[in-house]
Amino acid sequence: MKRYLPLFLVLLVFACSKEEDPTEPEVIIPEVEEVEPDYDNDPIYSQARPNLLSSYWTIFKLSAAQYDIDLSHITDVTFVSDDLPGNTAGIANGSCEDYILIVVDESKFRWLTTGEQIFLMYHELGHDVFNASHAGGGLMAPNVRSIEYTLFQREVQDFFTGVDFVEWTEEECQYIRDLTDNKS
Ligand SMILES: [Zn+2]
Repeated sequence: MKRYLPLFLVLLVFACSKEEDPTEPEVIIPEVEEVEPDYDNDPIYSQARPNLLSSYWTIFKLSAAQYDIDLSHITDVTFVSDDLPGNTAGIANGSCEDYILIVVDESKFRWLTTGEQIFLMYHELGHDVFNASHAGGGLMAPNVRSIEYTLFQREVQDFFTGVDFVEWTEEECQYIRDLTDNKS
């Protein structure tokens, strides 16, 4: 009987070593962190700088380029910081003109959310760059509103692909020119 004992012990030790040892460090498989896409981590929108208004022109061009629209030939682009009446944070003063002139009331603009800031600037640039009217809806629907990232992506796509795009008529353009002429 005695001579079997060492073998039995060896087997026992072996058996034990097969058991999970709670003192052994656990092998941690790193979880792939899923980052929810949002304005702050989007490769284009994250380049927007609220204190650098021209950065919105940069990201607007990048968004357009995603839909094969090249806006690099447009160079007469001006952003002006000025007080605007009521709740208006930004206006497009270059609609129906061959220049882009966006006026932004920075005292209001800086309090908007990132999504609202980008929505506002894309909306105003939509007016000036493409003479887009409010009739297209989506991105060009009037009034700044908070817009969820995925929905905004859709609106940007629908704008640049012409799904939601209606140009000002010549009559409307004349009315707009009269308005902006009277202002200046
Ligand atoms: Zn508008």
